[in-house]
Amino acid sequence: MNRQAGLRLVLSLFAILVVPNLWADGETAPARDPKQAVDEAYTAKIQKYTTAPYFTSPLVNYLPASKNVPTPEAVLGDVAGAPGILPYAEDVYKYMRLLEKASPRVRVFSIGTTEEGREMIAVAVSSADNLKNLEENRTRLAKLADPRTIKLDDAEADKLVAQAVPIYYITGTIHSPETGAPTALMELAYRLAVDESPYIREIRDGMITLITPVVEVDGRDRMVDLYKWHLAHPKDFYPPLIYWGKYVAHDNNRDAMGVTLKLTENVLNTYIGWKAQVLHDLHESVPYLYDNTVGDGPYNAWVDPILADEWQMIGARNVADMTRFGMPGVFTHGDFDTWSPGYLMFIAAMHNGISRLYETFGNGGADTQERTLDPEDYARTWYRQNPPLPKTLWSQRDNNNYEQTGLLTSLHFFNENKRLFLKNFYLKAKRSVMKPAAEGPAAYVLPADDARLSLQAELLRVLRKQAVEISRAKSAFTVSLPVKKEPKPKKKQDTKDAAEKEAAPAPTTREFPAGSYIIRMDQPYARIADALLDHQYWSPDDPQKTPYDDTGWTFGELFGVQVSRVTDLKILDVSMERVTEIYASGGVKGEGTIFAINNNAEPALATLRYKMKDAGVEAAEEPFESGGKKFNRGSFVIRNANRSELDHAAAGLGLQVVALAAAPSVKTHPVRAARVAFVHTWLSTQTEGWWRLALDNLGIPYDYMSTQAIAKFDDLNARYDVILFPPVGFASSPTAIINGIPMAWGNPLPWKNTPETPNLVGKNDSTDDMRPGLGWDGLAKLQAFVQKGGVLLTATDTSRFATEIGLTTGVSTSSSQKLKIVGSVLGARLVDGASPIAYGYDEKLSVYCDNGPIFSLSSIAGARGRRRLGPESHSRPTGRGSVNDPDFTVGRSGVEAPEEPSWETWEAPPVTDEQRRNGFRVIPPANRPRVIFRYADSKELLISGLVEGGDEIAQHPAVVDVPSGNGHVVLFSINPVYRGETHGTYSLVLNTILSFDNLNAGRKLADK
Ligand SMILES: [Zn+2]
Repeated sequence: MNRQAGLRLVLSLFAILVVPNLWADGETAPARDPKQAVDEAYTAKIQKYTTAPYFTSPLVNYLPASKNVPTPEAVLGDVAGAPGILPYAEDVYKYMRLLEKASPRVRVFSIGTTEEGREMIAVAVSSADNLKNLEENRTRLAKLADPRTIKLDDAEADKLVAQAVPIYYITGTIHSPETGAPTALMELAYRLAVDESPYIREIRDGMITLITPVVEVDGRDRMVDLYKWHLAHPKDFYPPLIYWGKYVAHDNNRDAMGVTLKLTENVLNTYIGWKAQVLHDLHESVPYLYDNTVGDGPYNAWVDPILADEWQMIGARNVADMTRFGMPGVFTHGDFDTWSPGYLMFIAAMHNGISRLYETFGNGGADTQERTLDPEDYARTWYRQNPPLPKTLWSQRDNNNYEQTGLLTSLHFFNENKRLFLKNFYLKAKRSVMKPAAEGPAAYVLPADDARLSLQAELLRVLRKQAVEISRAKSAFTVSLPVKKEPKPKKKQDTKDAAEKEAAPAPTTREFPAGSYIIRMDQPYARIADALLDHQYWSPDDPQKTPYDDTGWTFGELFGVQVSRVTDLKILDVSMERVTEIYASGGVKGEGTIFAINNNAEPALATLRYKMKDAGVEAAEEPFESGGKKFNRGSFVIRNANRSELDHAAAGLGLQVVALAAAPSVKTHPVRAARVAFVHTWLSTQTEGWWRLALDNLGIPYDYMSTQAIAKFDDLNARYDVILFPPVGFASSPTAIINGIPMAWGNPLPWKNTPETPNLVGKNDSTDDMRPGLGWDGLAKLQAFVQKGGVLLTATDTSRFATEIGLTTGVSTSSSQKLKIVGSVLGARLVDGASPIAYGYDEKLSVYCDNGPIFSLSSIAGARGRRRLGPESHSRPTGRGSVNDPDFTVGRSGVEAPEEPSWETWEAPPVTDEQRRNGFRVIPPANRPRVIFRYADSKELLISGLVEGGDEIAQHPAVVDVPSGNGHVVLFSINPVYRGETHGTYSLVLNTILSFDNLNAGRKLADK
């Protein structure tokens, strides 16, 4: 049988299988109501745009007619999922508001705006009665959501469960190139409002479907622009979607921990405000429908097991229903692990609801295209007995059919079991409230005497956005700390040792001052606080070898503030009060005209410097004492400042300023408001977007420009003091940064506003052609900038670029061989505290690392970090005597060998006498790289997440200042500014900016 014949046979088998009313288990059949008229024209187009009979279902292969409610055609000019049609968010909203006007079963709510000011909406679809009684229902759901309000009374909960109408929240197109959801959700809203089939009526009467059809609204409008450009230039390649939202692209779905983006905040507030039970997010990257809710392990360790069971229940039923319809390629296991809580849908998982996520199949636009799958996508596996086809013609309508069918069967199943799910909603909240005694901890404490109160406030504000209740102790209190179990020694020690080991260690206590913040765990949303503040451990032996995303995130560590996990239940009796506004107290105290601010590496210091433009700010190069107060190295000494202006600014920033009668007698250097250029590529803007967001929030001004633009300035030093070149992402190679996108073929890829693309540029950047990279001219300009005294700051892949392309001397980078660090929190150690880059930091620092790169130093130009050949490899040769005796040569007296030099892993090997002979390659001491921070020793490397083969990076430099000509290149192996989660390392960047012209302060040079 040839392949064509085989395909025909497969098709005819499908045709036989797709028989309506196959439902045989007493449930309502998913079929249209024969008494309700069908919109014949619309239905005909649905059939026309569906590319195979098995890519649809009895739920969506027709559209019920309505006399007064408009179909999506009213706005789209065609049916949902029609080829060539992608509506802007505005058009989607227009349709939803037409529905609202025409039907008492639809209401539209504005839920906030995006960074660029576009509106976000939520559309509620339910029976007119349910929508009339929204407030009454919300009151019921709120009681289930917070069982303390009904005194944890299960009988009362059962009454509420019997009366409440559950809310199922669906969110579409957070990922802008995944384009199908808006039209699917328009049509879904219509069906839910209009269809009189018993199957749909049950959903409508039994529950409220809440829909945010477009989550990333800024990105949607850009994507529609690009698609229109593509339609206008059908023979050309079209520009890739380099910007989605104002700041980040795909990572907008990794923000549910830090909640730094508006879209996250708006969806979170809607989910919490409505007391929804489910948050179901729609994506399009896997054929044909991967309900990745069940996914793969490891599961997030903080979710209630009830939720894990709900995932299985809903997922399995979803697959079963669609398989019964004869739709191929529907499955729920896969390679997505459910460890990180950073995904948008995980808001529900961490707030006692049910998180769900669909990957359907999209073409990145509305073209109908032949698609060829990878073997792993069409292989039949144990969890995908009915896999997708290797090759098929695929349309946006097919995608819309899958999305709607999946959602409708989910809604129906959820409604049929809503009492179970509502009871679970209550039980998860109740178990959260009972957490302190049941599982612990009792609370987390953020002490009032933390040296970094503005950073502490920043962390608390994240918790507040997560709807976590925060309290403050009215007086000092003491808790007992759990006894730390020492790992048992492998070999039996002598009896004296063993006796000492067995003696129980005395219990220890810790006192916290009045005003300390307490995050009680006996609250409904304790789990999100616990998940963010706790430590993570991903075993190198975990069967999951490809973590889907970050493995560690401990917020206290990454914010550089103290967080104590307290298990002592007595803490819950401490006298405390709830706080709703979080601010660190700040302002000027004392008398005098000289002002000092202690430096504890708080980013607010940089904000203050830029705010107080005219003040004379200096940094102390040594610690000092004044007026009975101790100040760290790097503390600000401010002259010529207006006291009330300073007081106002410091109060707003949570910085404590001390007025001094006289200037301290300590060496200082000026802290100037450096002129900053911020460079991006046209390859990707994702990772640098988080840096922009951080600088914007801090009020640090910068000029944003591409690598193309940098190449056009004749004298960069005349305009800028510091050039930030944050990570490009996707481990971009140095040559890709220079060459950009190939120009030898293809057409220009413009990123600019045109009649077809009115939304493309926004407030970011534009170009006539995205393809050119930095180019060799641009590289020469960058090099000249550094040579003439500028400071270039790079991180991860741009550090690799700077070292490998030759902007630095004495630092080499290498890729890991066995090292596996997947978005983990690592320990770093201070090497040179006198460097201004380290101002305010302690000996120990927690940093975010994602596999390096690994830096090695050499004092020989052009050499890579020398292989470590210590005394251990120079052990004595075979000869007379014992191992510790010197070697012996017959016939001559012993000669003492010169002592072998030793050095640390983060240092360059000492220059040898042999290297110094005609040593033109020996880097003079003043030109050698200066290590500021290094990675911790292997044993102390892991703080949170996964570290495998950590020896490879342990002790290697993490932050290096490389003098170059009159300037500096500051290299980061870590990413210090990441996803709004690493506030504790922001000051490494800000310190570099503020002391740009004094980076050599405190530097000690080697004598040769
Ligand atoms: Zn996606």
